[in-house]
Amino acid sequence: MGDQRHELPPLFVERLNEIVAPEQRGPVVSSFGVERPAAFRINPLRGNAGAALDELKQVGLTPEPVGWCEHAYTVPREQREALTHASAVGDGRVYVQGLSSLLAALALRPRAGERVLDLAAAPGGKTLHMAALMNNEGRIAAVESARPRYYKLKANVEAACATCVDCYCADGRYVGRKQREAFDAVLVDAPCSGEARFGPREPGAWRYWSEKKIKRNASMQKALLRSAIDATRVGGRIVYATCTLGPEENEGVIDHTLRRVGESVAVEPIELPIDNVQPGLSGWRGKAYDALVAHTRRVLPDGRMTAFYLAKLVKRASTS
Ligand code: SAM
Repeated sequence: MGDQRHELPPLFVERLNEIVAPEQRGPVVSSFGVERPAAFRINPLRGNAGAALDELKQVGLTPEPVGWCEHAYTVPREQREALTHASAVGDGRVYVQGLSSLLAALALRPRAGERVLDLAAAPGGKTLHMAALMNNEGRIAAVESARPRYYKLKANVEAACATCVDCYCADGRYVGRKQREAFDAVLVDAPCSGEARFGPREPGAWRYWSEKKIKRNASMQKALLRSAIDATRVGGRIVYATCTLGPEENEGVIDHTLRRVGESVAVEPIELPIDNVQPGLSGWRGKAYDALVAHTRRVLPDGRMTAFYLAKLVKRASTS
């Protein structure tokens, strides 16, 4: 496990020291130097999951099941290259997806027959996970605003035979106005600073990172979350997720939203099947957050998982 302390942007390390409790700082900073196992999910919508797994074994891979997520496996990091080139990945029977990102669909729990909205969907890992959890029954509207990424999403959905998914190239900020209270469940896997990706595998990941960019992301995230709430039926649920650590893009977005929508929305505690989790921060740089923000969850990065943030909201009353 290499220590990336001196290679991470100094301002980022300073911020980590404010975000992470003293006893967790060392392991968290060191985790940015770790090459993790590669994780993937077998796509049950493309038929025999056992056959796809056997095919991976035949090309020399040694998959280990992820106990807490059906159809998910890891292989040692040295096998990442072979995994990504396997024909089962190329043709949609297997989807390479980090362990943390599996938690978003598990937290939302989409059920067969539901109307689901994925407001920031490309390239589609979580859309496809939700389609699998729904057994392709119901409808998922998968929205992506960047055209090239929308085409990638569409190709992945087609390859996976996720027939319950309709893809739209649109700005998610305006979906809530047009599709008021139309969905049972909404995922906002928000565009973010991606701090979880900082590390040796993506040396350029922080080239455009700055506190100014963090603020700009936060305003997009607030607009997307508000749109998601408007698009959710009363009684429906919303999961907000990011792969970044800055409180402005996580707890700050939830706190802001609670202040805007008041009791129309409640924050639910999330039960996660892993140990490397802590409650949302109670405040940041002198500002105390709404007490409900403590129900949100931070996944702490370690040797297997990258950092992740999750909040689950339930719509109690109409926001119109
Ligand atoms: N959920 C995806 C997955 O699991 O594969 C990853 C989503 S990524 C974190 C965020 C996505 O949101 C990017 O593809 C980005 O282009 C898209 N995006 C950014 N702004 C958006 C907007 N206003 N409306 C819809 N999508 C947006």
